[in-house]
Amino acid sequence: MSTSLSPALIRVLDALRCPVCEGPLRVDASSLRCPAGHTFDIAHQGYVSLLGGRRATSGDDADMVRARERFLGTGAYDPISSAVAALVQEAYLDRGGRDDEGATSDLVLDVGCGTGRHLAAVLDAVPGAWGLGLDTSTRALRSAVRAHPHLAGATSDVFRDFPVRDHAVAALLDIFAPRNPGEFRRVLRTDGVLVVVRPTSSHLRELRAEVQGMVGVDPEKEERLGAALDPYFTELGTRRVDFTLDLPRERARDLVSMTPSARHLDASHVGDSGHLPRSVTVSVLVSSYRPG
Ligand SMILES: [Zn+2]
Repeated sequence: MSTSLSPALIRVLDALRCPVCEGPLRVDASSLRCPAGHTFDIAHQGYVSLLGGRRATSGDDADMVRARERFLGTGAYDPISSAVAALVQEAYLDRGGRDDEGATSDLVLDVGCGTGRHLAAVLDAVPGAWGLGLDTSTRALRSAVRAHPHLAGATSDVFRDFPVRDHAVAALLDIFAPRNPGEFRRVLRTDGVLVVVRPTSSHLRELRAEVQGMVGVDPEKEERLGAALDPYFTELGTRRVDFTLDLPRERARDLVSMTPSARHLDASHVGDSGHLPRSVTVSVLVSSYRPG
């Protein structure tokens, strides 16, 4: 058995399925393998490659991941993590999902988990739960699998079918990530909860005003989200999380680097000419949904 086979990966194994033929996966040396012989490497860093040989449609590069690690590592977005964890906890309490010791062995799936910071916060809040983070970026997954002892990671593409069995997931997180509502519905248990975080039009507005080329928030985003989720989910509630963040220059650069804007901006020159705001508004909506 490989030393890279983490307890978390063993624990979530039953929830996984072969991305090629949908068969069950079992450990075979330093790989996962389905009965048809499709084989998926477990990286020595601990995540498993379940893209099935296909290329991802997108993914954070090393610079973006480093910026994200530095920024999130300061705790700057912890109020967002806390709001997500609270909604997941509420869903558990509502359905009495814990045993007498207050523990659960449920699976929390984070689609587009990045460095795993938010998923780790949810795992802290729900004792005994196990986490599976999916991301296209292997660099991000290397960090994610170190973020919490209950966290396993796999490469996967949010725009394709997830390598996860039907109704295997108790809580599904989509935090600043693209959405795949049909797959969300398929993998969630009927008593499961979906939590979606997305920016409001005020999010980072001071920074966007100063940094040319930084992508804004599409004003029709909310309508599109509603239309996309409506056939599959019913909204339980929405919380708005607003706060002001101090913005030293290095943090501003990291923040620009970790947004989608980074693909066409050179963040290392952010603020070289002109002003940078000293603080910035963080403004997101955190919603929970149940299937149906
Ligand atoms: Zn297979």
